[in-house]
This record gives sequence, structure tokens and C-alpha cells, in this order.
Amino acid sequence: MRRLISCGALVPGCAFIAHGTDGAQVVRQLTQHMSMIHGLEPLSRELQTKVHSCIETDAREAGAARHAGM
Ligand SMILES: [Zn+2]
Repeated sequence: MRRLISCGALVPGCAFIAHGTDGAQVVRQLTQHMSMIHGLEPLSRELQTKVHSCIETDAREAGAARHAGM
């Protein structure tokens, strides 16, 4: 199941969305984006907790998984 995190949930106004196949991958991608774009490095414990709470399941992927045709 694919996962995603919207950076805008943590940094208001940012449109970046991290995509990955599991939680660890999206967290790593978002962490990289935050240090490069927002200069947030290292992430505070509070921010790490926030990042984890913002992990979402990619709903489009779930919809596409249904059987096609009859
Ligand atoms: Zn951002």
C-alpha cells in the first residue's frame, strides 16, 4: 500500500507531497525535503512525531486495485 505525506500539513503553504511504498520511505523523503527546502535539520522529536501522524494512505492506489471488467 502506497503512503504519502503532504508537507503543507507541517509547513503551511508548502505544496510538496512525499510519496513512497511504506511509512519509513515517505518519512525519509519528507525529512530530506525539509532539510533542503526549509532548512529544518535535524528534525526535532516533536516534529518527527508530527511527520509520523501525517502519513496517509494513497486512496487512488486502493481504488485502482479493484478488479477490472466482469
Ligand atoms: Zn515543504
